[in-house]
Amino acid sequence: MDLRLNPTQQAFRDQVRGWLEENVPREPLPSLDTREGVEAHRAWERRLYDAGFAAVHWPAAHGGRGMDPLATAIFYEEYLRADGPARLNRLGLGLAGPTLIDLGTPDQQDRWLSKILTSEEIWCQGFSEPGAGSDLAGIRTRGEVRDDGILVNGQKIWTSHSRWADWMFALVRTDPQSSRHAGLTFLMIEMADPGVDVRPIRQLNDARDFAEVFLTDVLVPKNNVIGEIGGGWSVAMATLVHERGSGLNTAAHFHKMLAELVSMIPEESRGDTRVQEEIGWLYEHIEAYRYMTLRTLSELAQKKPPGPQGSMGKLWWSELQVRLYELGLQVLGSRAELLDGHDDGAGPPAWRQRYWLARAALIYAGSNEIQRNIIAERVLGLPKGSRRAV
Ligand SMILES: Cc1cc2nc3c(=O)[nH]c(=O)nc-3n(C[C@H](O)[C@H](O)[C@H](O)COP(=O)(O)OP(=O)(O)OC[C@H]3O[C@@H](n4cnc5c(N)ncnc54)[C@H](O)[C@@H]3O)c2cc1C
Repeated sequence: MDLRLNPTQQAFRDQVRGWLEENVPREPLPSLDTREGVEAHRAWERRLYDAGFAAVHWPAAHGGRGMDPLATAIFYEEYLRADGPARLNRLGLGLAGPTLIDLGTPDQQDRWLSKILTSEEIWCQGFSEPGAGSDLAGIRTRGEVRDDGILVNGQKIWTSHSRWADWMFALVRTDPQSSRHAGLTFLMIEMADPGVDVRPIRQLNDARDFAEVFLTDVLVPKNNVIGEIGGGWSVAMATLVHERGSGLNTAAHFHKMLAELVSMIPEESRGDTRVQEEIGWLYEHIEAYRYMTLRTLSELAQKKPPGPQGSMGKLWWSELQVRLYELGLQVLGSRAELLDGHDDGAGPPAWRQRYWLARAALIYAGSNEIQRNIIAERVLGLPKGSRRAV
C-alpha cells in the first residue's frame, strides 16, 4: 500500500480541512443530554449535509459522495483534527442507512434515507433485550403477523439515544413456534406511536444516554419490514457488519488524546519512569493500531469482504481507549474528581466521565469477550467452547 495521498485525495483533504476550519463552532455545543443540545447538533448536521459531508461514504445516488474507505478515513481524520461536534445521528448514518441502502426497497429508501442524512429523523437500535444481548438469538419481543400489519409487544433495553429518536430499527420474533435465528423479523418502529414507552436509565454520571423501551400493541405496517417476514436474522447480521468499525476511532484520534494527556502531566511526575513507560507503551500500540487500520482500509479499497479483522479492530480501539484514560486518571490523581464537568485549565473537563464511557465500549458493539471468541474460532481455528484446563 502506498501511504502517500494521491492528488485527488490531497484535494479532498484540503477541501474538508478548509471547510471545517471555517465552520466548526468555536464553542462546544450544549450537551446531547438536553433538548437544546440535540437541536444545536441537528443544526450542525444540517450544515454538514448542505456542504455534502453528512455521509461521504454513502453512494452518490443516495445523497452521499460515493467515496472509498480511504477518502472516508481522510474525512474523519480531518473531523477529529478540527474538533468537530459529536455526530448526532450515528445509528441512522452508520447502521439504519447502510442497511436500507443494501436491503431496502426503493420506496423504503425514498421514505427514510434523505431524512437520515439531514438528521431530521434520528434513529435508535432496538436489538438488545433483558434476555438477549451477546446471545442476540434469544429475542422474545413478539410480533404478531396480521392482515393490517405486525402487532409488536415486548421490551428492549440499553437503547441508546432512544430518548430523542424518531425511529427504531428492531428485531422481533414473528413466528411464535420458532427458536434461535429462525422466525425473526427486522422492522422499523415509529417512536411517536402511543404504544412506545421510553424509560431513560439514569447512569452513574447522571447522563441518560440509553433507556428501556416498552412496546405495547404497536401496530407496524408491513411496508416497514426490511427483507422478508421471518428473514430478519440475515438483515440484522448485515447491519452488524457496519457496527464494529467506527470512523472516529482512528489512530489520529488516539495520538491526539495521548498528546493531551502528556500535556496534563504535572512537573513533579514527568520523571516518573512508570509514567514514561506507559506513555511509550501507548505510543507503540497506537502506531500498531494505525498499521492495522491501514491494512483493513487497503483491503476494503480492493473490495475484499470485511473479515474477522473487524473484531480485532474493536478490541484494539476499545482497550487502548480505556488504558489512555486510566493513565489520565493516574496522572490527574485527586484532581480528576474535582475536574468533573469543570475546565480550570488544569486538564480536560470530565476526564473521569469520559473514562466511564470508554469502559462501556468494552461491552457495546459486541462485548470484547465475544470478539475474542470470534478471533479464537475464526482466525486461530481453535475449537468452539474450548476450556483451559486449570
Ligand atoms: C453504553 C451501551 C450502549 C448500548 N446501546 C445499545 C443500543 O443502542 N441498542 C441495542 O440493541 N443494544 C445496546 N447495548 C447493548 C449491548 O449490545 C449489550 O450490552 C451487549 O451485547 C452485551 O449483552 P448483555 O449486556 O446482555 O450481556 P450478556 O450477554 O449477558 O453478557 C454478560 C457478560 O458475559 C460475557 N459473555 C456472554 N456470553 C459469552 C460467551 N459466549 N463467551 C464469553 N463471554 C460471554 C459478556 O462478554 C459479558 O461480559 C448497549 C450497551 C451499552 C453498554
